Amino acid sequence: MKRSTRSVMDSIRLTGVRAEAAHGVYDFEHVDKQPFIVDATMFLDLAQAGRTDDLDDTVNYGAIANGIVEIIEGEHVDLIERLAAKIADRILDFDRIQRVIVTVHKPNAPIKVPFGDVSVTIERSRDHTGDSAFASSDAESRESHGSGETQSGARPASRVHKAVVAMGGNIGDVEQTLRAAVVAIDGVPGNQITGISPLYRTAAWGMEPGTPDFLNAVVEVTTTLDADTLLSALQTIEAAHGRSREVHWGSRPLDLDIVDFDGEISDDPHLTLPHPRAWQRSFVLAPWADLDPNAVLPGEHGGRVADLLDGAADRDSVECLSDTWILGGTA
Ligand code: AMP
Repeated sequence: MKRSTRSVMDSIRLTGVRAEAAHGVYDFEHVDKQPFIVDATMFLDLAQAGRTDDLDDTVNYGAIANGIVEIIEGEHVDLIERLAAKIADRILDFDRIQRVIVTVHKPNAPIKVPFGDVSVTIERSRDHTGDSAFASSDAESRESHGSGETQSGARPASRVHKAVVAMGGNIGDVEQTLRAAVVAIDGVPGNQITGISPLYRTAAWGMEPGTPDFLNAVVEVTTTLDADTLLSALQTIEAAHGRSREVHWGSRPLDLDIVDFDGEISDDPHLTLPHPRAWQRSFVLAPWADLDPNAVLPGEHGGRVADLLDGAADRDSVECLSDTWILGGTA
C-alpha cells in the first residue's frame, strides 16, 4: 500500500449508510438481522477536482456507500470493531483516500438497560501499518477483491448493485399497477426489492387540462443485473402493463425509470444516469427522501435528496397519500 507524504486537509463525509445483517457475539445474533449504520469521513486532496469538476479527480461516494453495504451484508462478524476495520480497509482500496474515520452504530444491540445507541469509531490511514487489525483486514481485502487498486483508484465493479427505481402512472387502477410492478421487479431473477416508499399523488402540472393526476413511488433494489439489463427488465414490465401510445404524450399506465445505479454517471441517451430530471422532480425526490432520509443523488445537479426536494420548484404539486399502500386499498 502506498504511503502519503502530504498532509491532506480536505474531506468527504458520508453518514447514515444503513443495512441489516446478522452480526454479534450471541447465538441469536448469528440468525436474526438487525440494523448497522455507518458514518465515514474520508480525507483526500480535492484541489484537482475543485479545478477540473471531473469525477475522475475525486472518489465516487456512491461506490463507497455500496462497498460499505456489501461489507455489512457480507460475512458474519462478532464485533462491530471488526466490521469497522473491514469497512476502513475497503475505503482505503480507493487509493486517493489517505485517511478515514469510520463509525459503526449498532442501535439495537442486545443491552438490557435502556440506551440510545452504541458505536465504535476507528481511524485508519495508509501509513498506519503498526495496527494489527488493519494489517489483517488488508490481507483479507486482497484475498476477496483480487489484486486491488486500479489506476483510477476505483475498485473493480461489485457483483451486487444498488438501484433506485421511480415508478409512476396515471391511467387505470394505478395503485394496483404499482403494487404489481413492485412484485414484478422483485420477481426478476437477480433482483431484490429492499425498500418501498410511501405513495404520492402528483398533479399533472403543465399537461393538457383534464389529464388525470399521477401516482408515484420509489423503490430500492439490489440486483446482480447490470444497469442495461435492469432497464430492459423494467421496460418488459412497463409493456406488460399495456403502456399505450394512443393517449397524449405523458399519460401512461406505468412508467419505470432508473433514478440511480450504484452512483454511476452516464450521458448515454439509452440509459442516462442518474436520471436526468430526477434532481428537479418532487415526485421522485419526496418519496425517495421518505424512504432514505440520507439518500444522495450523484452527478452534476446532485446533492442530498432532502435538500434538492426543499429547493424543487414543483414541491407543492406532490401529496403523500399512504405509507402502507403496498398492503392494499389506499384509494
Ligand atoms: P420514458 O418515456 O420517460 O420512460 O423514456 C423512455 C426512454 O428513456 C427509453 O428510450 C430509455 O432508453 C430512455 N432512458 C434514458 N435514461 C433512462 C433512465 N435512467 N431510466 C429509464 N429510461 C431511460
